[in-house]
Amino acid sequence: MTPAYVALGSNLGQPQHQLSKAVAALEMLPDTQLVRVSSIYRSAAVGPGTQPDYLNAVLLLTTNLSATVLLDAMHQIERAQGRVRDVHWGARTLDLDLLLYGNIEITSSTLTVPHPRLQQRNFVLYPLREISDTNLVMPDGSDLDTLLRQCPDDGLVRTDYRLLINQRTKSR
Ligand code: AMP
Repeated sequence: MTPAYVALGSNLGQPQHQLSKAVAALEMLPDTQLVRVSSIYRSAAVGPGTQPDYLNAVLLLTTNLSATVLLDAMHQIERAQGRVRDVHWGARTLDLDLLLYGNIEITSSTLTVPHPRLQQRNFVLYPLREISDTNLVMPDGSDLDTLLRQCPDDGLVRTDYRLLINQRTKSR
């Protein structure tokens, strides 16, 4: 099983509900186990126009799915929750990003791992640190604590909302 870290974000359609639904859907993926989920964080939207704040979280899966199959499944979950890819960086019901997949680097036309903007995003780095036991080392040798020191929290708020792990039985 390969550890895979996934970032979740939503700023439309009852964001907390969107994140809960996405966690349940990721938990139901075949050959995959949900190990840990961060708290929910609130961040100001980056992107065009005035947008509602985002709710964000990060979770850890272990999976036998390849990174490409996992990304496809993540896109299906985004679509199932009404994501329309229209405005780049526009408001969205659900955004799922594959942050890390084991300790490998992937560069293809559809997938870049580690996620290319991981290092600049406080709403990814802080929840990632919350759920990692140790100071994570990236495939390029940089480490999470150093990245965090270089990334101001900019008013990021760790909320009291929690995402539940259901541990439902999967039918395979
Ligand atoms: P976004 O609009 O931020 O959800 O960007 C999605 C696009 O980025 C899709 O076309 C993906 O194929 C591509 N992409 C490349 N690397 C990643 C990654 N690590 N996680 C999620 N999407 C990725």
